[in-house]
Amino acid sequence: MDLGLRGRWALVCAASKGLGKGCARALVAEGVNVVITARGAEVLQATAAELRALNPAVQVRTVVGDIATPDNRAAALAACPQVDILVNNAGGPPPGDFRDWTRDDWIKAVDANMLTPIELIKATVDGMAERGFGRVVNITSGAVKAPIDVLGLSNGARSGLTGFVAGAARQAKLASRNVTLNNLLPGVFDTDRIRATTRAQAAKAGKSEDEIVAARLASVPARRLGTADEFGAMCAFLCSAHASYITGQNILMDGGAYPGTF
Ligand code: NAD
Repeated sequence: MDLGLRGRWALVCAASKGLGKGCARALVAEGVNVVITARGAEVLQATAAELRALNPAVQVRTVVGDIATPDNRAAALAACPQVDILVNNAGGPPPGDFRDWTRDDWIKAVDANMLTPIELIKATVDGMAERGFGRVVNITSGAVKAPIDVLGLSNGARSGLTGFVAGAARQAKLASRNVTLNNLLPGVFDTDRIRATTRAQAAKAGKSEDEIVAARLASVPARRLGTADEFGAMCAFLCSAHASYITGQNILMDGGAYPGTF
């Protein structure tokens, strides 16, 4: 299927690794020019080289820095001639017990996982509407549907974003102009982040990493971790010309882990 995206420009945030990179790879393969951002310059440049090799016909630009800061957001927007596609992403907040979290911890989480995507949406969607095409995909988490107690900062901040998107996506001045806003909710995916948590849990429990992964997969009917490439493929479809009637949705990709009917 031709996704009808050739020549478009995408800003893909936090995309040097993992799920963001999976989205950038899928978009580049479809002929989309991309601006990718991340905090570390070295890995970001390596990812840019990989993307250019994947499709030499597209432009790949990089912006280094923390997307949760206003200056970095301005730089990322300035690097993109026009944002047709916005993929919002940033690292998730740390786990813990809510009794230990300070106001500052909450502000950091809300800044990175709620206000940053909202600021970028605010900066881009009206231009998308004027041009008659726009796609916003927010990488959130399966924890929005089935909260994980130790991830309270994530549950809270991402739920705030989810509520905002549900309303904004339904503005007729966006939806009737072929601008869609959707959230993509990962379950457990094989990325650096999951590998790091697995290592930490294994060390803490005195178990092997394989044992920790097996325990995690016991509640995933697919009995495997998701891959960044399959996550990217769903992102690219949501961005495609064929998905203009899908907006305001929360698309769960979790190998069947969420047990509800709806
Ligand atoms: P990852 O650690 O593999 O990759 C994160 C990427 O984001 C890296 O490129 C890193 O440089 C970049 N990054 C992080 N914070 C940034 C910031 N503030 N500014 C700019 N770049 C930043 O992580 P991942 O597994 O791909 O996770 C992506 C998001 O999805 C996270 O918010 C995570 O909490 C969420 N998530 C992941 C999973 C999973 O199974 N992997 C499950 C649920 C939710």
